[in-house]
Amino acid sequence: MVKRRSIEVVCRCGQPLARYKKRGKGRLVKMFFERIALDHAGVFLTDPPLPLNREIFCPGCGKRVATVQVISGKYAAKVNQGGIQPM
Ligand SMILES: [Zn+2]
Repeated sequence: MVKRRSIEVVCRCGQPLARYKKRGKGRLVKMFFERIALDHAGVFLTDPPLPLNREIFCPGCGKRVATVQVISGKYAAKVNQGGIQPM
């Protein structure tokens, strides 16, 4: 059985970014879009969806927090470690 837990992804400036259903241990390096439960800032689950390689910025401070990539065949936000609060 795979354990899932929801984590809050928060920018270094304190701006809440997303609630994410993370699998496994370790720090957050990527966020598959299909596992983003809540998009607090409205920067991930856009309509139309973000194109590949699009950079995602924090609406609070303007810092880059992620980049859109395909990881394991799925769209994901590759997290900028310097852009989010460590957990
Ligand atoms: Zn910020």
